[in-house]
Amino acid sequence: MSSDLGRAEAMLRAACGDRLRTGVELAPFTTFRVGGPSSLFLEASSEEDLAAVAAAVRATGLPVLVLGRGSNLLISDHGFPGLALRLGPGFRWAVVEGRELRAGAAMALPALAGLALQHGLTGLEWAVAVPASLGGAVRMNAGAHGVEMAEVLRTAEVFDLVAGERATVRAEEAGFRYRGSDLPDPGVVVAATLRLRAGAPERIRARMDEIREWRRQHQPLAEPNCGSVFKNPPNDAAARLIERCGLKGFAIGGARISTKHANFIVTRPGARAEDVAALICAVQDRVAEGTGILLSPEVHLVGAFDRLPR
Ligand SMILES: Cc1cc2nc3c(=O)[nH]c(=O)nc-3n(C[C@H](O)[C@H](O)[C@H](O)COP(=O)(O)OP(=O)(O)OC[C@H]3O[C@@H](n4cnc5c(N)ncnc54)[C@H](O)[C@@H]3O)c2cc1C
Repeated sequence: MSSDLGRAEAMLRAACGDRLRTGVELAPFTTFRVGGPSSLFLEASSEEDLAAVAAAVRATGLPVLVLGRGSNLLISDHGFPGLALRLGPGFRWAVVEGRELRAGAAMALPALAGLALQHGLTGLEWAVAVPASLGGAVRMNAGAHGVEMAEVLRTAEVFDLVAGERATVRAEEAGFRYRGSDLPDPGVVVAATLRLRAGAPERIRARMDEIREWRRQHQPLAEPNCGSVFKNPPNDAAARLIERCGLKGFAIGGARISTKHANFIVTRPGARAEDVAALICAVQDRVAEGTGILLSPEVHLVGAFDRLPR
C-alpha cells in the first residue's frame, strides 16, 4: 500500500472506525459479477462519512470510485487501488409531496417507479426495469424507451468530494447529455427530486408491464451483464451494427456477445474482467472495420486492463 493510501486509511479509520474495510471484493457489487478487490471500502452511513472522505481526498489525493448498484461498471481483475464508496441505508428513503418525488440516492430505480405508480404519478415508467440506483442514474443520465433522467429531474443534491460540501444542482445546470453529465467529479449524488405528472394508475401499470415484458423478450436478463455495452451512434443502434458484423455469440474466454441482444455482453462463472475488456476491444475493432463507425463504450471501465477500448 502506498504511503498516501496508508495515510488516507488512517484518516478514514479515525473518522469511520470499522465501517472502513480493506481488500473488499467488488465483483458481488456489480451486475457483471467480475473484477477484483478495492484497497479500501466504505459504506457511508451519513454525510459526516462523506466529509471524512473529502478530507482524505484533499490531504492525500485518494482515488475514489463511487459505487451505485454496479450496473454499468467493469472493474479490473486487479481491483481498484483506492476507496470504493457506497451509500448505506441512511441514503435509502423516499417521500412523495404532490407531484414531486424526493429520494435518497441509494434507492433502486424500479422501487421509485413502483412508488410513483402507487401515488398515481406518471413519468417514471421507463425506469421500472433499469437496475440502477437513483444516484447512478442521475450521474449517467440513464434513460430508456425514449425518456431520460434529465427530463424528470428537478434537482440533485451533490456532495463534492473536493470541496467537502453539499450543493443543490438544478437539472438545467447538470450538463446532461446522452448517458452522461457534468456533475462534480469526484462527487456523490446523495439525493434527488423528480418532477412527475398526475396519471391514471391502470395506464401507468399497463405501460410498466409492457416494458418488463419487452425486456424479458429482448434482453438476456438471466445472465450477468451491464445493460448496453456501447452507446448508440447518432441515428443508428449499436446492436444493429454488431449483429451486421456477424458478432452475435462471439466469445472471448468467459465473456460472450449475447445471442438475444447484440449490444449486451454476458459473463459465465469464472469469467475475468479482462475477457470482457478484450471482447469490447475486439467488437469495437470489427465494427469499425466492417462499417467505418467507431462505437464508444457506455460501460465504465475501472482500474488496469491489458488493453482499453479506443
Ligand atoms: C439489465 C440491465 C439493463 C439496463 N438498462 C438500462 C437502460 O435501459 N437505460 C440505461 O440508461 N441504462 C441501463 N442499464 C445500465 C445502468 O443501469 C445505468 O447506467 C445506471 O445509470 C447505472 O447506475 P448504478 O447505480 O448501477 O451505477 P454504477 O454502475 O454503480 O456506476 C455508474 C457510474 O455512476 C457513478 N455513480 C454511481 N452512483 C453514484 C452516485 N450516488 N453519485 C455519483 N456518481 C455515482 C459511478 O461512479 C460510475 O461512474 C442497464 C443495466 C443492466 C444490468
